[in-house]
Amino acid sequence: MRKLLIANRGEIAARVITTARKLGLETVAVHSDADARALHVDMADEAVHIGPAPVAESYLRTATLLAAAKATGADAIHPGYGFLSENPNFAEAVSAAGLTFVGPPASAIRAMGLKDAAKAAMEAAGVPVVPGYHGADQTPDLLAREAQAIGYPVLIKARAGGGGKGMRLVETADAFADALSAAQREAQASFGDPAVLIEKFITSPRHIEIQVFADTHGNVVHLFERDCSLQRRHQKVIEEAPAPDMPADVRAAMGAAAVEAARAIGYVGAGTVEFIADGSGPLRTDGFWFMEMNTRLQVEHPVTEAITGVDLVALQLAVAAGAPLPFTQDDLTITGHAFEARLYAEDADAGFLPATGTLTHLSFPDGVAFDRAPVRIDSGVRQGDAISPHYDPMIAKVIVHGPDRETALRRLSRALVETQVAGVTTNLGFLKRLADHAGFAAGQVDTGLIGRDIEALTSRDPDRQALALQAAALSALGQAAPAGSDDVWGMNKGWRLWGQATHSVALSRDGARQNIRVTYLGGDRFDIDGTKAQATAQDDSLHITGTTAATLSVHADPTSITVFDKGEITRFERIDTLARETGSGAGSDAVTAPMPGLVTAVHVAPGDTVEADAPLLVLEAMKMEHTLRAPRAGTVAEVLVTAGAQVNNHDLLVRLQDDAHD
Ligand code: ADP
Repeated sequence: MRKLLIANRGEIAARVITTARKLGLETVAVHSDADARALHVDMADEAVHIGPAPVAESYLRTATLLAAAKATGADAIHPGYGFLSENPNFAEAVSAAGLTFVGPPASAIRAMGLKDAAKAAMEAAGVPVVPGYHGADQTPDLLAREAQAIGYPVLIKARAGGGGKGMRLVETADAFADALSAAQREAQASFGDPAVLIEKFITSPRHIEIQVFADTHGNVVHLFERDCSLQRRHQKVIEEAPAPDMPADVRAAMGAAAVEAARAIGYVGAGTVEFIADGSGPLRTDGFWFMEMNTRLQVEHPVTEAITGVDLVALQLAVAAGAPLPFTQDDLTITGHAFEARLYAEDADAGFLPATGTLTHLSFPDGVAFDRAPVRIDSGVRQGDAISPHYDPMIAKVIVHGPDRETALRRLSRALVETQVAGVTTNLGFLKRLADHAGFAAGQVDTGLIGRDIEALTSRDPDRQALALQAAALSALGQAAPAGSDDVWGMNKGWRLWGQATHSVALSRDGARQNIRVTYLGGDRFDIDGTKAQATAQDDSLHITGTTAATLSVHADPTSITVFDKGEITRFERIDTLARETGSGAGSDAVTAPMPGLVTAVHVAPGDTVEADAPLLVLEAMKMEHTLRAPRAGTVAEVLVTAGAQVNNHDLLVRLQDDAHD
């Protein structure tokens, strides 16, 4: 193996490339139109364009990917996770093209591809499975009878399922019929296969999965467990390894069952056997059941790397090249404890709506990748990149390691505080509140934890919200102050000039406009809408005592102000200030673009007379509309753009007549 093509994008492509380079392999990235300048493209030695943004026309195209491998002389393909990683036809096509597929044989992927067949195979291999029905007969009456026999509550699952789709919890018999048709509809829509299985719903379930590894020489080991019980709607949010309060005998029993599962299907490479465990009391050797096997690397693999010191991607590549596993089961040990939090572009506080936009500011705690560092950040994006609607909205994985669970959790909380994202709404605050959750800290994890406390986990402290607004108002005025325009804050210089003046600033948050009146009282004292506040700025942080006291960080750009408060991020859009900043100030003749954007409307023509502040044109930038206004009363001399024009920062848009000379 000399040259590896990574048939994926984003964070996982970046992760695989990092290890491949360490091992001295040449790397080939593939990318869609939308990813032409993506991080993974920059990191690879070569990159091949494979089509337009939609995945069906790019990342899921087997023939195009194989052609890219051929054109670049790659001799192996790593599928990452998602996309084609669990597609047995892809694995076969790669092998048929004479290339090495970094993953299991197609037969093993197929054996685990459908949940019903997988459960049957595992039952035959003596692996405990969740009691339930996984037969071929899908007659609704029969399914209802089976559910009755299993005993409520039951879980209906799409046999082709993944990502929690096509899954329904049914508590009572009278709710079964509706839940069944909903699950079937969703399964048909998502997987083109309406077939379902029914399982006993395990109450207080814990999701505990075992990382397995097999080579082509018949060796199979496990690298212990990960606890992925912190889930929202069956989706993992924070994962950890090892599982809290895992007794040694249960670990050994689960590990042995997972190794058995892998052996039973002739597995090769990295795989994960997912179990559901009864978490209503201490874990028991007879209290866990096979759910499914993921025949690929998992998103949460870094926590296993952190506690074992094994680079799982390096091991995948070695095994794919035919090497035997470099260790036996007895060589493997657990060191310390690790967590991973998934940072997504989504508005957790508003029903977890996915968010898009440009990452105008992105900073992470200092991390060292792939070593046993206290903090590791796996990310596929950089500041300035866009989170588009085409792909998974993951921004980064924040991974921490510590000598024990308590230390690791403290480090997670700290790492989240040190993570700053502006321009795109994220779930950071939600993750931080979870990291600080008392039950989680006590290790009382089950898949219902988030759901039970969702209210508290998605609400902010109103005092701190008010404080964020106060900080944003000061920042907005600090920026607008005449003498302080260069540095982000420019505060002390600028503000002193205002004397006792009262200024008004308009900001909007989530579309709600707020006018804030700020009176400078001298020194570091202000009156902000009737609240007495004290504020001092240093570097990029602002120490403010208002509704409450805190040291905040503020990121200001031409359209918005983002306040970072210990993991809570609040974004305010600027109103008005833009118009004021336009051109070279009031009285000027020129109206220039305050930022790059698209002209969406032009309200004036040469010869028009305008009042001061009259709207001249509308610029759309950063997903917002900004009205650019006349800096003074006068006559329009020139309009240099039309609607639809793309303009750059400082481009001249409209010129007023120089009345003194006309
Ligand atoms: P998917 O493949 O769609 O992700 P899984 O079978 O892996 O579905 O299950 C996803 C999650 O649903 C699990 O992590 C667990 O939280 C929950 N779950 C699955 N099966 C059961 C069950 N029998 N009882 C209780 N919860 C379950």
